Amino acid sequence: MSLTPAHTPARTQGPHEPQHQAQHEHPPRRTQQQTQQHLRQLLHPAHRHAYADSARLAVDHLVAALARVRGPVTGLDPARAAALVAEVDLDAPLGCAQQALEELDRIWLDDTAWFHETGLAAHLNCPVLVPALVAEVLISGVNPSLDTFDQSVGGTFIEQRLVAWTAERIGFGPEADGVFTSGGTQSNLQALHLARDHALSQSGARLQDLHVLVSADGHYSVQRAARLLGLPASAVVPVAVDERRRMDTAALTSALEEVTRTGGRLMAVVATAGTTDHGAIDPLTEVADLAHRHGAWVHVDAAYGGGLLVSSHRALLAGIEHADSVTVDFHKTWFQPVSCSAVVVADRTHLRHVAARADYLNPADGGGLGRAAPDQVTKSLQTTRRFDALKLWLTLRVMGADGVGDLVDALVDLARQTHRRLLAVDDLQVRAAPELSTLLLRPVVPGLDAGEVDALVPHVRAALWERGEHVVAATVVDGRRWLKLTLLNPLAGVDDVLGVTRAVAATARALAGERAA
Ligand SMILES: *Cc1c(COP(=O)(O)O)cnc(C)c1O
Repeated sequence: MSLTPAHTPARTQGPHEPQHQAQHEHPPRRTQQQTQQHLRQLLHPAHRHAYADSARLAVDHLVAALARVRGPVTGLDPARAAALVAEVDLDAPLGCAQQALEELDRIWLDDTAWFHETGLAAHLNCPVLVPALVAEVLISGVNPSLDTFDQSVGGTFIEQRLVAWTAERIGFGPEADGVFTSGGTQSNLQALHLARDHALSQSGARLQDLHVLVSADGHYSVQRAARLLGLPASAVVPVAVDERRRMDTAALTSALEEVTRTGGRLMAVVATAGTTDHGAIDPLTEVADLAHRHGAWVHVDAAYGGGLLVSSHRALLAGIEHADSVTVDFHKTWFQPVSCSAVVVADRTHLRHVAARADYLNPADGGGLGRAAPDQVTKSLQTTRRFDALKLWLTLRVMGADGVGDLVDALVDLARQTHRRLLAVDDLQVRAAPELSTLLLRPVVPGLDAGEVDALVPHVRAALWERGEHVVAATVVDGRRWLKLTLLNPLAGVDDVLGVTRAVAATARALAGERAA
């Protein structure tokens, strides 16, 4: 296929050229028959059979693609992936879903990453639960928007029930509330927004004096949120971690005192329940206690560790109930499809800090529907918002919280057992035992010093990617490069993960040999 398709006048003519102007003023005329065809693409009771056929076609297509999967990825390089997409002429529609899906195979599905594959152990993406996929059919077909009652009806109450249910699992009281968001980044932003305005509502507080304390291993979205909220770059203070990579409480005490001593104001302390790289859980009770004694808001970022709420390892989250706000990503350790996250606050009155009203949307008097018609938009940073909550709802109604917790237990057990086995392996160095489900490794190659191993690590990752059988991530710890396995697939067994780690060691050995030769 040509890289420069025939139907792209806009690329060859400037926008001010006369021919283009003429086209703009006289859009191509359509026949009535064509318009009828276009109208039939809209979901409508009269078109329900056509919809059902298309939906079945899509499912059959996905199922066929699943049957063809031979590994987590095919190792496609970014330049080739870009070229495949660029080749498509978006101004020449194919006219039917079958052909469009076949084209999609070529430009995406044949080479995409598959999160059910046990050789994939890189990022915080999970295989997804089928009850949640069933919900996706309804979410997209009905297409409610969760901003107001009249656009979602029972959906508003389903979301509210799930927020209340999550709050109860956290250990919050009846004053708790919250809202679903698009992800942990957004949940953290909203929580820090509330914390900022809460701090600013106190007498004498100025934006430029506010400080946010977070462990040095905290998620980068905390930094981004602070910037968006207008805080100076120096406002986010990294707190040192202990040998288990948890926030060091002595370091936190010093940092809290230092901010106060230098005339700053403590806006928030962010504790992480499951750090992105190490899966470490900060000592939540101690952190909350110290922070509250200094008048700071406590936010717990449980984007990763949130699944522990329903697992038999719930005790790892002890103290989370002392938080003022909590982030939970259901699209990580709850096996929900992207996006599905929530921000939950202990005291609903704090949500007033994001509240804004518009006559056309959420007037205080209910706009004719009365006060019994609540609107979630007043609690959210978004307006039009997906009914992501339905995925969690159907998951809980079909398999229950214990069912999800069972899968989280499998991940924790898998990480611990694999770690134990890796301690006996001499061509890999592993970090301390995982609390959640990450493993960090470095190849040990005789004759290579630490700097040479650092140089080797990205090549190992790239070589594995190209082969397509194993996918791992990479990070830096204390200035050294490590390969990272995030275990989020309960279908994987210890031998599967050891297969990944053996591939890491063998690849490192081979690459080191090539370089020496
Ligand atoms: C993944 C993650 C986030 C960000 O969540 P998104 O859903 O990717 O936006 C925030 N905090 C932690 C600790 C995470 O692991």
